[in-house]
Amino acid sequence: MDTYNVNEKGYYGEFGGAYIPEMLYPNVEELRQQYLSIMNEDSFKEEFNQLLKDYVGRPSPLYFAKRLSEKHGAKIYLKREDLNHTGAHKINNTIGQILMAKKLGKKRIIAETGAGQHGVATATVCALMGIDCVVYMGEIDIARQSPNVARMKMLGAEVRPALSGSRTLKDATNEAIRDWINNPVDTHYIIGSAIGPHPYPDMVTRFQSIISEEIKWQLQEKEGRQNPDYVVACIGGGSNAAGTYYHFLDDEKVGIIAVEAAGKGIDSGESAATSVLGKEGIIHGCKTLLMQTPDGQITEPYSISAGLDYPGVGPMHAHLYNSGRGEFFSVTDNDAMKAGLELCKTEGIIPAIESSHALAIFNHKKFNQNDVVVISLSGRGDKDLNTYIDYFDL
Ligand SMILES: *Cc1c(COP(=O)(O)O)cnc(C)c1O
Repeated sequence: MDTYNVNEKGYYGEFGGAYIPEMLYPNVEELRQQYLSIMNEDSFKEEFNQLLKDYVGRPSPLYFAKRLSEKHGAKIYLKREDLNHTGAHKINNTIGQILMAKKLGKKRIIAETGAGQHGVATATVCALMGIDCVVYMGEIDIARQSPNVARMKMLGAEVRPALSGSRTLKDATNEAIRDWINNPVDTHYIIGSAIGPHPYPDMVTRFQSIISEEIKWQLQEKEGRQNPDYVVACIGGGSNAAGTYYHFLDDEKVGIIAVEAAGKGIDSGESAATSVLGKEGIIHGCKTLLMQTPDGQITEPYSISAGLDYPGVGPMHAHLYNSGRGEFFSVTDNDAMKAGLELCKTEGIIPAIESSHALAIFNHKKFNQNDVVVISLSGRGDKDLNTYIDYFDL
């Protein structure tokens, strides 16, 4: 049987692996050798589940969106990751990784962040555990995302500017890797999406798989069956999507739908639609699809949504795309903004603009009246208020 999960070598089909500098090998290898056995320890599972319940507020509801369903002619359920503490799914992963770091005896955390969402989720769990936290962030992003910089500082993290290159996410990543090479013994690097060298994509996916684990029993309660007809999620690096798909990957009767950010349009030169525009290459320590120039330079991505503004996709998604198991759509800024406003007006929920991309699926694909479609509502829209205000002239 085909599997869409990682194999023992760390690959999803031809994608994945660990393409790292020699000097990083001991750190990644330590994690690779231990992550599964640590995650299987009873004491780990107990603490993880307790924190997800009492600190994050899980299980997140599976909400039947009645008016949206009537409008689009399908049974639409929203998986409410927007109701988590800190307002998105990212906290599921950072809780898991901070506990992993403690089990490995690490005393210090580093992270990279683009828009600042992952930086905030990391600073949050470091405050929770009383562990030192350094977040690398491009100088340009620090200027663009000042509320998140303030949040990180309030939470006790140090925000270090990346001053090289384009001074955005990939430069922050390079700085974080340099730090890790220099601090191999006491430091854990918390990567923020289902990307990075093996075992990161698999580890992050497993922490996020709580999303589909809950969907199964919640759907059983509501529909009398565990499997929906479709699961839909937006893809930046691919962590909310990987968690939403995880327990349905090998059941081909469940349709997997991925929505990427087309920005101003696929052919506009301002886009983040990696599956369409990307070619095989190496980014962030793994082999995957990424947007690059003919001579292999990574191109700057663009989306109105800061969380989808990433030039690659995680290796699981590259494989879902290449194998045909996943159906990929790209949604423009305009389509996403309209879908976001539609959710406000029909259901009284203001979504993150990332999640609005997933909601725009109904303008791109026709479902049957009885299809059960579960959409990952990955985050809430408070952080995006200024973008909504400017866009709609509110
Ligand atoms: C960061 C973010 C995303 C994109 O990240 P993935 O790893 O692709 O899930 C999507 N939605 C929200 C709300 C985010 O904050």
